[in-house]
Amino acid sequence: MDCIFCKIISGEIPAEIIHRDDEIVAFRDINPEAPVHLLIVPVKHIETITDIDTEDQNLVGRMVFVAKQLCEQEGISESGFRMVLNCREHGGQEVYHLHIHVLGGRAMRWPPG
Ligand code: AMP
Repeated sequence: MDCIFCKIISGEIPAEIIHRDDEIVAFRDINPEAPVHLLIVPVKHIETITDIDTEDQNLVGRMVFVAKQLCEQEGISESGFRMVLNCREHGGQEVYHLHIHVLGGRAMRWPPG
């Protein structure tokens, strides 16, 4: 499958992987928008959040839990962070393999652009 995140998961493309289990992989964004910028992705290729099935509910919950654990590991739990999930064109999604962004290490603004 011609998916950049599937290739990172399989090891075909290098990335700084900071978490891996049977269902979830996390790595640093190649083009960080903040001092800490992580991507949490499911091993299963799901294009976007509108494609999740009933059976994927626990997986998405686990993605959030792994993100929370990685925030502790990165030392941004106390200062705070932003979790972002972009969906399709209006959401600004570029890579069509479901992912949660974790951005931290600086203050974020609101509303987003
Ligand atoms: P999105 O716009 O939500 O689809 O975000 C996709 C993210 O993937 C962007 O922040 C990119 O910088 C990031 N990205 C694209 N290619 C790579 C890569 N090879 N390794 C790490 N991050 C990547």
